[in-house]
This record gives sequence, structure tokens and C-alpha cells, in this order.
Amino acid sequence: MDSIGFDDINPSEMTDVLEINITKTTDSKLPEVDMDNIAFGRAYSDHMFIADYEDGEWKNSRIIPYRNLSISPANAALHYAQSIFEGLKAYRTQDGDIATFRADENARRMRSSAIRMCMPAVPEELFLEAIYELVNLDRDWVPSTDGSSLYIRPFQFAMDPYIGIRPAQKYTFMVISGPVGQYYTEPVKVKIETEYARAMPGGVGAAKTAGNYAAALYPAKRAQDEGYHQLIWTDAHTHKYIEESGTMNIMFVIDGMLVTPQTSDTILAGITRASAIELAKDWGMIVEERRIKVTEIIEAMEQGRLQEAFGIGTAATVSQISVINHEGIDYELPSGESCEISNKLLKSLTDIRLGRVPDKFGWMHKI
Ligand SMILES: *Cc1c(COP(=O)(O)O)cnc(C)c1O
Repeated sequence: MDSIGFDDINPSEMTDVLEINITKTTDSKLPEVDMDNIAFGRAYSDHMFIADYEDGEWKNSRIIPYRNLSISPANAALHYAQSIFEGLKAYRTQDGDIATFRADENARRMRSSAIRMCMPAVPEELFLEAIYELVNLDRDWVPSTDGSSLYIRPFQFAMDPYIGIRPAQKYTFMVISGPVGQYYTEPVKVKIETEYARAMPGGVGAAKTAGNYAAALYPAKRAQDEGYHQLIWTDAHTHKYIEESGTMNIMFVIDGMLVTPQTSDTILAGITRASAIELAKDWGMIVEERRIKVTEIIEAMEQGRLQEAFGIGTAATVSQISVINHEGIDYELPSGESCEISNKLLKSLTDIRLGRVPDKFGWMHKI
């Protein structure tokens, strides 16, 4: 994809923006946090990274104490949603080091989200440097309790104080972080959505852009009111093909094979998904990335051939699915210890992230 209206920045001209000005807090909030009881997205670390895009270049890289922003009521992102984000985690390894998981892949994906939303891409070097410096400064915020980590949220939004519709000329790139525990603490119940849609061909479903999540809230709330945690989205046109699940990609084990929808412009290409596929192939498992019909899943459930279903993503890690609802019928699935593949994937990912096994894929970056 070509970038739209913005020239790529040559890294050799970027020495300035890669030099981060650091102002440390004198009032750490860390003592107030109960690291044994951390909920998702409630506590934020002491510092945040900010860079500005103005006059065609990224500048003013800085890390400052976490605080509120001041923006114009006419801020273009508030009105027209030129706003994108990423999500990744830093882990405390068994040797006490701190390491991030595949941050370079997040850098690349944020770049493609930026292009789709007509925003100037954050250069990969800047994206990584911002994260590594911030995590280094807030390293005491990386929890060591089981299943917990430091969630890192890079995001970029329009900064023009202008309510005419056009691509903005000023942008802000920021990174905040916060300690998180497990996202789902039990197997999830999901409902196959057959009325609403998350993404359509030619749309923005493959971009991690703010509006996608706002659009999903109402259908997801309806499912929650009926007792389900999440939806499984289907294609907007026919509702006959499985796409993904809210903030997770979805995987099935059918007849011993790992089956997952192929990525397209209506599916967010998850980094956890890609990592799971690599691991499963490495074990010699057959992996099929293809279109999956809802009826195929229903039939496999009825015939007892569907051995496992699970969601997979940074926030949720590997979340087993215990119930799939389709048009009023609840299908119960195996979950827990008996699910060999989801447990093995979770263990393999955890072992790599916590430095319990050699990082043979080169996924970790020590900070
Ligand atoms: C972020 C996200 C995922 C998971 O991607 P990861 O890179 O594995 O965290 C899946 N679906 C949607 C819609 C997402 O926003």
C-alpha cells in the first residue's frame, strides 16, 4: 500500500526525534497499586511518551509524568475519528529481566493502520524507541505475579483544531502503559452475530482504528445482556462465514487440525494469531488458514469433531470458548485441562515470554 499524501520519513533525517527528552515524576503512584489484584486498564504507570507531527515531520519526542491532555473542542480526532492504536505487553522474565514481545510487528501494523486512515506513519525506529525508553523508565511497574504483565498502549490521533473534513495536518503519537492481570478469568461464552457487522470489504476492519470498537459496542452489549462475554463476528454480507471475536482472533481444532479464518480486509491480523500459527506448524500440526462457514462449525460441534475453540490476542492471550451460541441454540464445548492445543499454545507463549525456554523465533526484546 502507498501512503496517502504523506512522504515517508527517511530514518537518517530522524536523529532529532529519536532523542527523547525525559522529565521524571517526583510523585510516583506505584505505592498506591495493589500488584496482587490488578484489573485490566485501571492503573497507569508514572510516565507517558509524546511526539508531535507538524509541518510534515515528527518532532519533540518527550517522556513526561502521566497527566491529562489539553485539546481543542474542535479536535478533529474527536469528531471524525482519525485515531489508531496498538496493544502489546512487557513481561518480567524468570531471571528478573524485562522484555517486550514482537514490538516490531506492532510498529508495522500501526504503520498500515495509519496509511488506511490517511495519517502519517510513525517511523518504526521512533515507535520502538518510545516503547523501550518508556518501559525502561517505568520498569518497576512491570508486575511479576502469575499471568500479569505491563500492557503498553501506543496510539496516534489527529490534533488539528478544525472541524472541516480533511486529513489533519497535525498529529500526536503517544505511549502509555499500565500493569494488567488476566483479561478473562474463565472460559468465555460467545454468540455468533448474524445481524450486525464489524467490518465490510473495502472498509477499515483490518486497521486498529478507534471507530471499529465504538461500532462493536452495541451488538456486544446485546450479547452480554443475553449472558455471553463476546461475539463471533461473521461477514457483513451473508453472515455465513466466521471472522473474529471482538478483540481476539478465533481458532478451532477440528479433527486434530488447527483451523482459523484467513486474514483479509475485514479481519485484524493479530500478532498472537500469527505467533500461534508459527508455533503449531513448528510442532508439525496441520494449520489451515481459510474461509470457515458457520455451518461447518455447527456441524463439527454436532458431530463431536470440534475439539477446541479459543480466542487469541495480546490482551486475552489464549481464551478457551466453552459455549458458542448460534440462532438461539447454545452448543457446549470442551474447555479446561482436556483442551490440549489451547493449553499447549498458552504454555508455549508464556514460556517464551517469561524466558523459561530459549527464544528460538527471536520474538523477545530485552530492555
Ligand atoms: C488487537 C486485536 C486483535 C488481536 O491482535 P494481537 O496483535 O494478537 O493483539 C484481534 N482482533 C481485533 C479486532 C483487535 O483489535
